Amino acid sequence: MIRVTVWNENVHEQKHPAVQKIYPQGIHTAIADGLRRLDTAGQLEVRTATLDQPGNGLTDEVLGSTDVMTWWGHCAHDKVDDKVVARVAARVHQGMGLIVLHSGHFSKIFKRLMGTPCALKWREAGERERLWTINPAHPIARGIGPCIELEHTEMYGEPFSIPEPEEQVFISWFEGGEVFRSGNCWRRGNGRIFYFRPGHETYPIYHNPVIQQVIHNAVHWAAPSAWWSDIHAAPNVPADQAPEPIQATGASVH
Ligand code: ZN
Repeated sequence: MIRVTVWNENVHEQKHPAVQKIYPQGIHTAIADGLRRLDTAGQLEVRTATLDQPGNGLTDEVLGSTDVMTWWGHCAHDKVDDKVVARVAARVHQGMGLIVLHSGHFSKIFKRLMGTPCALKWREAGERERLWTINPAHPIARGIGPCIELEHTEMYGEPFSIPEPEEQVFISWFEGGEVFRSGNCWRRGNGRIFYFRPGHETYPIYHNPVIQQVIHNAVHWAAPSAWWSDIHAAPNVPADQAPEPIQATGASVH
């Protein structure tokens, strides 16, 4: 069983009627419903968490029972408590998968785990996007086909100031001419991270069955096969506990 927590700042949905119309129960509900719909094998346990909950919805208890987290945020990145960000990062290092969506590129957690500005170009013109599958054998591309067409999207363009992806699954082309690395994988510690570009609160992109399929595939890809729970420990090993006897030659002895 893969325990999935779908996290959302859930702010636009409370304030803007246009967003409420597309995501009346919040973006998190659309993403969670998509995961449940595709989980015909009964392998996922999906719950949601939002910024307004205690501990920003990400208490030790929630994190301790999460194998993969999806992250959507846009206008409230700075409202996420730094202590929460540190907890999420630590859990990723131990093995939790993290799927960062769209404007999550500027979230504290993504920038912390990447260590770079994660900046990009953008434009809201409702233009067409084509995501090319450039690694058709990758588990995240399973069942997706050569490309995904989105009729109306916000543009994200290069340069995207991320560390070089360890694996890349999709590259986007936009009607206006820009391109963008839109499906990228990294490993940080024992955790797998996937950044997936499509989204935006005023387009119904998370209701799109193909986009839901990619997120579903990514959840399975990012799920830890084993945890490295003491990855942050840095124990001292005294000479008398070394695996082999040490013939001291005068180096410092404490
Ligand atoms: Zn956006």
